[in-house]
Amino acid sequence: MKIKRLEIHGFKSFQDKAVLDFNQPITGVVGPNGCGKSNVVDAIRWVMGEQSAKNLRGKSMEDIIFGGTEFRKPLGMAEVSLFFSTEDGRVPAKYLNFSEIQVTRRLYRDGDSDYLLNKTPCRLLDIAELFMDTGIGAKAYSIIEQGKIGMILHAKPEERRFLIEEAAGVTKFKARKVVAMKK
Ligand code: ATP
Ligand code: MG
Repeated sequence: MKIKRLEIHGFKSFQDKAVLDFNQPITGVVGPNGCGKSNVVDAIRWVMGEQSAKNLRGKSMEDIIFGGTEFRKPLGMAEVSLFFSTEDGRVPAKYLNFSEIQVTRRLYRDGDSDYLLNKTPCRLLDIAELFMDTGIGAKAYSIIEQGKIGMILHAKPEERRFLIEEAAGVTKFKARKVVAMKK
C-alpha cells in the first residue's frame, strides 16, 4: 500500500481545500516557518486514527479545526482524506478489487466525528485493521518524526518488539488473540 494523495479541508491552517499528490518515490514539503509543513504530517497522522490531541500539538481535539484568522472566520468542520494505491496487492482481500482505498475522517465543532472507508461510514477499528502489519498507521513506523530514531535506539527490548512485530506481520494475529480471549 502506497500513499497516493492527501486532501485536507478545514484542518489546522488549511482553511481551503488542499490536494497533495505523492506520485514520486520521494516527496519533499518545503516552505517558510509556520507555513503548515508539520500540519501536513499531523493531517496524515490524524486521518489514520490518532486519538491524542497532544501528539497533534494541540490541547484538545477541537484545536485541529481551522480556528480562523484576522480575515477568515473559523470553520465548523475538519475533513482529511488519504488515498492509497492497491497495485502492490498488499491489502486485505476485500480491497483487492478496488483501484484505490480512501480513508476519511471528519470532526465537527460540536464533537461529532466520522470515519469513512471508501466513502462508507466505518469504525475506527476497521481503519486500524486495514493498516495492521503494513507499517502504516497512527502509531506505526511510516512516520518517523524528530527524535523517533533516538527513541527506538534507546527503547527497552519489549518496546522495540512492537515495531519488529509490525514489520514481521504478526500484529493482526496478536490483536485477534486479544479479542478471542475476551469472548
Ligand atoms: P516550522 O518550519 O517552524 O516547523 P511548519 O511549516 O511546520 O513550521 P506548522 O507547525 O505546520 O508550520 O504550522 C503552524 C501554523 O499553523 C501556525 O501559523 C498556526 O497558527 C497554524 N495553525 C495551527 N492550528 C491552527 C488552527 N486550528 N487554525 C488555524 N491555524 C492553525
Ligand atoms: Mg514544522
